Amino acid sequence: RLVSADAEGAEEQVIEAALRPKKLDDFVGQERVREQLSLVLRGALRRGRTPDHVLLSGGPGLGKTTLAMIIAAELGQPLRISSGPAIERAGDLAAVLSTLAEGEVLFLDEIHRLARPAEEMLYMAMEDFRVDVVVGKGPGATAIPLDIAPFTLVGATTRAGMLPGPLRDRFGFVAHMDFYEPAELEVIVRRSARLLDVEITDDGAAEVAGRSRGTPRIANRLLRRVRDYAEVRADGVITQELARAALRLYEVDERGLDRLDRAVLESLMRKFGGGPVGLSTLAVSVGEEPETVEVVAEPFLVRQGLLARTPRGRIATPAAWAHLGIAQPAASPM
Ligand code: ATP
Repeated sequence: RLVSADAEGAEEQVIEAALRPKKLDDFVGQERVREQLSLVLRGALRRGRTPDHVLLSGGPGLGKTTLAMIIAAELGQPLRISSGPAIERAGDLAAVLSTLAEGEVLFLDEIHRLARPAEEMLYMAMEDFRVDVVVGKGPGATAIPLDIAPFTLVGATTRAGMLPGPLRDRFGFVAHMDFYEPAELEVIVRRSARLLDVEITDDGAAEVAGRSRGTPRIANRLLRRVRDYAEVRADGVITQELARAALRLYEVDERGLDRLDRAVLESLMRKFGGGPVGLSTLAVSVGEEPETVEVVAEPFLVRQGLLARTPRGRIATPAAWAHLGIAQPAASPM
């Protein structure tokens, strides 16, 4: 797993699997994506053909894997799962592709991290359902064409901007998944609580939802932490007051900022006077990989109006100074 701040434990994975909606109708939010996708899938089913390849782009935990599973289920096909980093050589990809049965769905997570030769092989596979397997080395090397069964590729990426144009263009349908609205997250929290057999009041669910950074995975995670608190320190029922106390303990603030979010802002303000500062310098100052800061923390902070990306670097907005209660120095650029 690339994103350390989002590392999942074994228990989390089991629970997440149990909480995953299995049908498009149970998938909460992302209205437009759901409607468009539904048409794509129904159209294909009606024609008895494999649907266009689908690219899902969006931040971690917004439901890309869930949607990939739903696509396969709606098509009545098995889902084969792999990822960009897991495929090191073109031969690895050829091995996966050549064992696909007709109509199967292949999910490639983190597709932007696919190695170049594999990526080029994928172009041809997506377009012509054919790959060239290169046998031998140097001048004697020959490419042996190999037909593969028509399949549907579902690619997922947290960084659509990093996908090469030729790859992006081969997806017939591109879905951008955005942060969820609090009301949608509330539905997810109530649904998860029901599945986990936890009692939660409506304002308790709203409290958890409101602090979930617009992200279903985080909503489910916070729900479990609050459940622990409710069971150990109270009578098991999650009320608003209890959710607040529990989330304070887990250092999730009222806007949903977690420790990494606050570390980024604090460092930006205290060490760099509010910026502008480059992404890598900022990441080093909080002991994280630039990609983690860029993919995990920043989109939410930008959405909240707490951080701005400018050509000269990242800057903390006045709202950020106010939220963290740090006095903004007079000479600060904003
Ligand atoms: P990553 O790419 O980091 O793996 P992801 O975008 O694939 O993240 P998922 O693993 O699909 O995210 O979703 C995380 C969890 O959030 C799932 O276990 C699922 O329970 C829940 N979830 C995601 N989207 C929804 C949704 N629309 N409705 C209900 N639950 C959802």
